[in-house]
Amino acid sequence: MKKLLFTDLDGTLLDLETYSFKQSLGAIERLKSAGVPIIFCSSKTKSEQEFYRQALDINDPFIVENGSAIYIPKGYFSSSVPFNTFYTGDYEVIQIGNSVDNVRSTLKQLKQEMSLGFNVYEDLAVEKVSDITGLDNDAASRAMQRDYSETILEGEVHEDFYINLSAGGYRCIPGSKYKTIVDARANKGRAVSILTSLFKKKWGEIETYGVGDSTNDAEMLAETDTAYLVQKPNRSWSSLTGIEVNTISEVGPLGWKLVVEEMLN
Ligand code: MG
Repeated sequence: MKKLLFTDLDGTLLDLETYSFKQSLGAIERLKSAGVPIIFCSSKTKSEQEFYRQALDINDPFIVENGSAIYIPKGYFSSSVPFNTFYTGDYEVIQIGNSVDNVRSTLKQLKQEMSLGFNVYEDLAVEKVSDITGLDNDAASRAMQRDYSETILEGEVHEDFYINLSAGGYRCIPGSKYKTIVDARANKGRAVSILTSLFKKKWGEIETYGVGDSTNDAEMLAETDTAYLVQKPNRSWSSLTGIEVNTISEVGPLGWKLVVEEMLN
């Protein structure tokens, strides 16, 4: 039976601190030789994911900004995609969440009405984003090319802010370092289930695998047949309730490698 791998990036395929994929390279080659699509499913932007796709020569569909949209290389599925799509560059796109303009205008409004002092990517210069995140300037500018969501990079917000956000049709997703605000419809699990249905149309029965490191991977992991959780740098596992996951006793990319070995054996 054909297999598919849905994978988180930060702290999973990539080292959480250095964003290096060095420890994952061997396993990526094994997946490619076995013809297993490697589907990124992450909070990262299209521009950030394209950087890693190019560096790793991965040409499969990918899910951006916490399930806000699915990018499918043109012609990847030979039959037509039965969803509302649009084309941009070399991709056919299934958009699940609203555009970043809506998120930004809501955040601006709340910031003013509630006299809050937080800053998101849009408020900051690339050098400042680089200082805060530890990304180099090029990586910071890729993170700033946002299409669907915004991230609170500095400043405090309080409970009422989240209540107002959710009343406005948004939700807050805690990442490994920062909180990201997305359209409430954006959902990694929904994106995984749409792509799974497209692969089933292409290949018939398939087995899906998912791997992540954090609570924000729960929706993705809940939609896969076999789910794995790798360890955080302090060697503990994020607590995911209500879903069945296989815990792997290695941190980040070293755990990712073990997952690939297990799924291919
Ligand atoms: Mg992660």
